[in-house]
Amino acid sequence: MSTFAQSARLQQLPPYLFAELDRMKQEQIKKGADIISLGIGDPDLPTPPHIIQAMAQAAADPKNHQYPSYEGMLGFRKAAADWYRQRFGTALDPTTEVLALIGSKEGIGHLPLAFINPGDVVLVPDPAYPVYQAGTLFAGGEAYFLPLTPERGFLPDLGAIPTAVLKRAKILWLNYPNNPTGAVAPREFLAEAVAFARRHGLILAHDAPYSEIAFDGYRPESILSIDGAKDVAVEFHSVSKTYNMTGWRLGFAVGNARILSGLGRVKENVDSGVFQAVQHAGIVALTGPQQCVTDNRRIWQERRDVLMAALRDMGFAVTPPKATFYAWIPVPRGFTSGSFCVDLLVKTGVVVTPGNGFGASGEGFVRAAFTVSVERIREAMDRIRKLGIRGS
Ligand SMILES: *Cc1c(COP(=O)(O)O)cnc(C)c1O
Repeated sequence: MSTFAQSARLQQLPPYLFAELDRMKQEQIKKGADIISLGIGDPDLPTPPHIIQAMAQAAADPKNHQYPSYEGMLGFRKAAADWYRQRFGTALDPTTEVLALIGSKEGIGHLPLAFINPGDVVLVPDPAYPVYQAGTLFAGGEAYFLPLTPERGFLPDLGAIPTAVLKRAKILWLNYPNNPTGAVAPREFLAEAVAFARRHGLILAHDAPYSEIAFDGYRPESILSIDGAKDVAVEFHSVSKTYNMTGWRLGFAVGNARILSGLGRVKENVDSGVFQAVQHAGIVALTGPQQCVTDNRRIWQERRDVLMAALRDMGFAVTPPKATFYAWIPVPRGFTSGSFCVDLLVKTGVVVTPGNGFGASGEGFVRAAFTVSVERIREAMDRIRKLGIRGS
């Protein structure tokens, strides 16, 4: 009997740090604990009705029952290009500079397969969304981590990357507004990153699923709004977070046509695109009324404010994130990311995510997602307050 040992590429993946916490959470649930999960990066709000309606209509049309094209319907790519121009002011050719994705995660995971050879380096922020590293490893590449620290506003120090590493590097990943830190990038940094990528012949891959979840009047900028960015950059967008559509699986990549064509060749060989009914819903999401986005933003902002006020009241040194639905919280003295999560879970039933699960530099922080109602956030904070824990 074969033991069906998993491939070296799977065994290379970092251990799943949340497994033990998941197990403990299940144990608490079995005991009847009332769990409040601030652990989930997935909107709890429903998809707006006009988008659901578009999907239902399109699903009933036999034209949409066959294989879609891997690159996306021209109508969807045009809608994405129009949305992009209106939102960010950059014109895109929908036939070559927009590619539909089965959720942006799909494109992020596949990009390295198009450009990375064994031994090539991918520059990956730390902490970060785990897919940048996983996609790199699957392609036989090596991840070189760029620490994101509070001292630098959670922006990587590009000048600190050793020359020997840069010589082997092919892709630079960035993600602003940032998951998990909630940080945003000033325009000067985006410009610095574009200049850096041009100078060193890197593909600049900017992951921007939170571009529409921003507060206090702040409007995140796109990487392509920087002069010369289109020569080196692609940007990943998604309807998931903007329109509460994580389950629908629809995103898109925009930017440099040669880079997108490489990604498209990978896709052509492993998937057959997005169900056309979902693309029709995406067209309506991107081109229809945007009041739902404004309404959502207000909900996220109210939750953020309630969470921030409570945390600050308990002595936590937190800055209200200008974007995303994540709070990146330094753990109190005497705790690690892991021990603080366990303590909160066992003593209060509140679930937060250990920062080191997103990379070594996340140690000392936990991530709280405000993907539950204001009432539940208040309840979670009350329980923590009663513990007598003081932030630092
Ligand atoms: C949610 C998320 C994504 C993926 O979104 P899709 O649902 O796959 O479009 C990508 N990057 C980051 C940083 C995310 O948080």
